[in-house]
Amino acid sequence: MPPDTMPASVYVGDGALEVQTLPVPDVGPDEALVEVSHCGICGSDLHLVLERFARPGAVLGHEWAGTIAAVGDGVDGWEVGTPVVADDQRGCGECRACRRGRPSVCLRRGERDLLGFRGAYCRYITIAAPRLLRIPDGLSLRAAALTEPTAIALHAVHLAGVTPDDRVLVTGGGPVGLLVLAVLRSVGVTDVTVSEPAPARQARARAVGASAVIGPSDLGPVPMGRTAAHPFTVAFECSGRAAAAEAALDHLDYAGTLVFVGTGSEWPRVNQNRMIILELTAIGAYNYDAAGFAPALELLASGRLPVDLLVEPADIGLDALLPTMERLARGELPAKVLVRPEVSA
Ligand SMILES: [Zn+2]
Ligand SMILES: [Zn+2]
Repeated sequence: MPPDTMPASVYVGDGALEVQTLPVPDVGPDEALVEVSHCGICGSDLHLVLERFARPGAVLGHEWAGTIAAVGDGVDGWEVGTPVVADDQRGCGECRACRRGRPSVCLRRGERDLLGFRGAYCRYITIAAPRLLRIPDGLSLRAAALTEPTAIALHAVHLAGVTPDDRVLVTGGGPVGLLVLAVLRSVGVTDVTVSEPAPARQARARAVGASAVIGPSDLGPVPMGRTAAHPFTVAFECSGRAAAAEAALDHLDYAGTLVFVGTGSEWPRVNQNRMIILELTAIGAYNYDAAGFAPALELLASGRLPVDLLVEPADIGLDALLPTMERLARGELPAKVLVRPEVSA
């Protein structure tokens, strides 16, 4: 039997998080109670906390893996103790977005409360049973916590239509950029340049398999009406910085594509003349492919991603969440940090 209360990291306003004791949620019919094993820190969590967008009382964290601790009435086929992640909600299959193969932006899905989100920086969460996916044998709960960001990286790569002939630029060598780089390598793309200022992240990008690692100043001004000397065919903007997006657009080749993956609070300026003359495309990649999380789970289970390089070696407790977010925002930690839902102090 699960306990009555649990530790949770709660956003209390003014950019602050506090570990509180909350009641373990009741399991409704057709739901499962999941004991969280690990939950990754997402760039969106950093924005919500450090830039103070979150609503006080929110528990953040959506990149989790865990074990079923209880099932509600009417739940068939799921047993206590099963290691799981939760897929995205299914699209309706009929609306314009679904018909275009983009069910994760289905027009008929319910309103999402992005600011007051009830997430997994706590010990237990409830999940609608149809969303559960079993973690394959041989894939650890810890590695499975990368399923959601891996699904995002796969989606970004698929939306761009990247092929092994492409010359790719990734701006931002943090957790998101490293995952995009690793996914690109896993689908046979070898020419990937990463632009990143922080030395720890530059070194990690090299280890993950970047063919070149540069600093932002290496993406200098490009002459008007011409391409850069060595332009890229596809760019993934993973830093959330306006200057990086502007430089990435400038350094695209004719018919090149920029994919926005990292969110940010300053907006880039778009040189429409360059976009017109070079017939550039800019797209946003926010969510997941129509196949949901299953391909990401499969890719992680295949062992083709260097998980040890994509995750920081030391997991943290709930009480270390805020200082770790600050370190991530400063670029001190190259890769994904996983949170254990416990208090270490
Ligand atoms: Zn995320
Ligand atoms: Zn739909």
